[in-house]
Amino acid sequence: MKLFYPEIFDKFVCTGSQCSDNCCMTDWDIEIDEDTYGFYKKLDNDIGRKFVNSVTEDEGVKYLVHCDGKCPMLNKKGLCSVQLAYGEENISDICREHPRFYEWFGDYKEAGVGLACEEAVRMYLSDDEPVRFFTKEIDEEPDDLEFDPQLLETMLFARTAFIDLLQNREYSLHDRLVNVLSASAEIQYALDEEDTEEIKAIAQELSHPEIIAERVESLKKALPEKPLENAENMLSYLERLDFIGDILPQQIKDASRFVKKLSAPLKAQTSGEYEKLAVYFVYRYFLKAVRDFDLMSKIKAMIVFVFAAEVINLSREQDAHARFETVKELCKEIEYSGDNMDRIYDDSYLSDIFSDTSMLALLEWTL
Ligand code: SF4
Repeated sequence: MKLFYPEIFDKFVCTGSQCSDNCCMTDWDIEIDEDTYGFYKKLDNDIGRKFVNSVTEDEGVKYLVHCDGKCPMLNKKGLCSVQLAYGEENISDICREHPRFYEWFGDYKEAGVGLACEEAVRMYLSDDEPVRFFTKEIDEEPDDLEFDPQLLETMLFARTAFIDLLQNREYSLHDRLVNVLSASAEIQYALDEEDTEEIKAIAQELSHPEIIAERVESLKKALPEKPLENAENMLSYLERLDFIGDILPQQIKDASRFVKKLSAPLKAQTSGEYEKLAVYFVYRYFLKAVRDFDLMSKIKAMIVFVFAAEVINLSREQDAHARFETVKELCKEIEYSGDNMDRIYDDSYLSDIFSDTSMLALLEWTL
């Protein structure tokens, strides 16, 4: 099987006890695979009973529920009692792998490292270079979940074109993202029509300087009259999401107050970090459209994350450490919340706050 991955995947090492926001203390519900659940269900001892009693089921999926803001299986020293007693091979797949993530298409597998982890964000964003990707052969059985191989090949081609453009620093980040937004809307139409040739043709245009410039010019005409209102509305929307902690909601509230006082557009001072954030989301979520045929909501979600990170950073004049913290909080509280992402994905089609012109306004005001 072939594995495709960004450089950080091979380099990431969890900082464990040095971590200031340990993922075992997050108030998340942790998905438990059936093998791990079965192992602990068979145990006739306190650890087995405690584990099984901490698991709930939702729509056929089992979750270990965090209690008082932490995993119930942590011992008094904050160490994993399950791993101490039965080894890493008997903790659940997610506990063993987090923050790594995977996607399978038959005998092709992709891997990456999620940014809801402070060390992953630090490693990823403190490297100024564009993201480098690698391929290697691994010894693993092909996955049997269905997909259309021709659509996968087409979407891989398109995603490469998106990432190449996002990492092409000859263009401003604004112009890169405007083109990504515009090309995504066109690809979404072609996806709806299952027209793979058209998807490839749109992707190929992303390497043509004249077409890139044309798109930027024509989209300027589509800008709303009061773009600042779109930024205010988006921040109010984000304030109403569900949060487990109080850091991010406070940062969004402060950013909202900051934006209300503005009279001129903001300008990104750390566009390399926003480029990498955009590449992270495009790499991680673009290919999901091979199975759910929905590209547009993922691209709009990416723009919202870039916008939110930037407005928060500028409103607080944050240094690099604080900026990385904000990205981690955005991913921990929003990207890793199924409820919040479902709302964003639904509203990207249903709400004016996510209309194409509103997205353009966010880019115009912040990049
Ligand atoms: S958040 Fe990241 S660095 Fe911290 S304990 Fe979890 S995996 Fe390790």
